Amino acid sequence: MLKPRPGVMEISPYVGGEASASGVNRVIRLAANENPLGPSPTAIAAYEAEKGELHRYPDGGAHALRKAISAQEGIPADQIVCGAGSDELISLLVRAYAGVDDEVLYSAHGFLMYSLAARTVGAHPVTAPEANLTTDVDAFLVRVTPRTRLVFVANPNNPTGTYLSRTELARLHAGLPSDVLLVIDAAYAEYCDAADYSNGAELVARHDNVVMTRTFSKIHGLASLRLGWAYCPPAVADVLHRVRGPFNVGQAAQAAGVAAINDRAYAEQSKEQNKRIRAWFGEKAAAMGLTVVPSQGNFVLLRFPDGPQAAERTLVALKSRGILLRAMGGYGLPESLRVTIGTEEEMHITADALQEVLSDGGA
Ligand code: PMP
Repeated sequence: MLKPRPGVMEISPYVGGEASASGVNRVIRLAANENPLGPSPTAIAAYEAEKGELHRYPDGGAHALRKAISAQEGIPADQIVCGAGSDELISLLVRAYAGVDDEVLYSAHGFLMYSLAARTVGAHPVTAPEANLTTDVDAFLVRVTPRTRLVFVANPNNPTGTYLSRTELARLHAGLPSDVLLVIDAAYAEYCDAADYSNGAELVARHDNVVMTRTFSKIHGLASLRLGWAYCPPAVADVLHRVRGPFNVGQAAQAAGVAAINDRAYAEQSKEQNKRIRAWFGEKAAAMGLTVVPSQGNFVLLRFPDGPQAAERTLVALKSRGILLRAMGGYGLPESLRVTIGTEEEMHITADALQEVLSDGGA
């Protein structure tokens, strides 16, 4: 009988945020941590300018894009590897560095792609409990075994929004054996403004077992194009180039990426707006009796003191009004809902609807 490799049938396919609701005129999509403002107009123009070249293969080396990222981030272009979203880079790293019965370690409420990627290669996902919904370095370190091959830390983490300080990140790295790869998933780095936050680039620069992954899906508003990148030590970049598809990033995505990363003002505006509305919405939700987890991302986790049923009732009631939030059962947080920060107008509508639903007892 035809059988996939061990572990594959244990994968629960990733379910993305809901995008539609029937019977409503307007849908407010707050379930996938997208940028509600969309991409920079210059990125849209760059994308459109590619339409006459759709019959050509893309630049397999993503040279212009890597150069633009290098200039923006102050890191060497030849240590940057691009991918079809950071999801692809996460999968490639696991595929290249872990195999059957190895272990891939991440935090209890960490991003679901880590376990999915681990199971794909027959490796075991191992989770470290969090302290206060935050990555706990000591809990990670005691779970490292001779079989541990990769350690993933989303910083800040999705779905909690919490982060690990520069010092804690360095302490985690210092505690890992040199044959374990630390992957710092900084998908939401551009939204962070905590003084002691670090995206981890300085660790990549100094060590040969640390990688930082980034994405164009969040602050750059290009989720549809599937574009991400990794900053790697030279040997890891070499490995990723061997295992990736030769044309893994389309040309339109590369062109839009160059324009997006060069439009700093647009990204800054997205960041500021997100910060302002996130603070406003968080206060509103807290005043409604919900526990709001302090977030450094473009989303916020709301915990329902009345438990999972209250969260579920609220999810359903808001959906019937066209407002789509993300259920958190899959992340082991069934008493919570994750809300992406939308536009000011969307968040006013959402806050009003939430208030109404909660005063109705979640009806
Ligand atoms: N890492 C984290 C923490 C994320 O939340 C996401 C998106 N949900 C990703 C990686 C993947 O993003 P993409 O593949 O769109 O780059």
